[in-house]
Amino acid sequence: MHPCLRCGACCAYFRVAFHWSEADASLGGVVPPELAETLDPHRFVMRGTQASRPRCVALHGTVGETAHCGIYEQRPSVCREVEPAWESGRPSLQCDKARVAHGMSPLTLADWQAVPQHA
Ligand code: SF4
Ligand code: SF4
Repeated sequence: MHPCLRCGACCAYFRVAFHWSEADASLGGVVPPELAETLDPHRFVMRGTQASRPRCVALHGTVGETAHCGIYEQRPSVCREVEPAWESGRPSLQCDKARVAHGMSPLTLADWQAVPQHA
């Protein structure tokens, strides 16, 4: 199984803010606007991620057990930019911070050895 599907920590750690146009279908945006709220004149934020204990409203499952994004194909650009550590041979401070905050170890190269290439 892909390590993110046993994790979800980054979706329950960061404030997920993005330009409002990403949720405006008339401008090609794909993020469901009902799952976002206004942050400032330029940005929306995914609901739930501004809380003192953030958890994106689109996150399904239990962090650290089974978790997945309910709008994976429509997720904001900032979500697409978070790289799972070592998936592409690079470290990821965001991934490490979120996992540690949820009591998990940072990913290592070994976590990818059993993952099929298409996962
Ligand atoms: S914290 Fe890392 S491993 Fe966990 S879901 Fe996010 S990118 Fe994937
Ligand atoms: S939109 Fe999806 S990928 Fe982005 S924070 Fe929410 S659950 Fe995670």
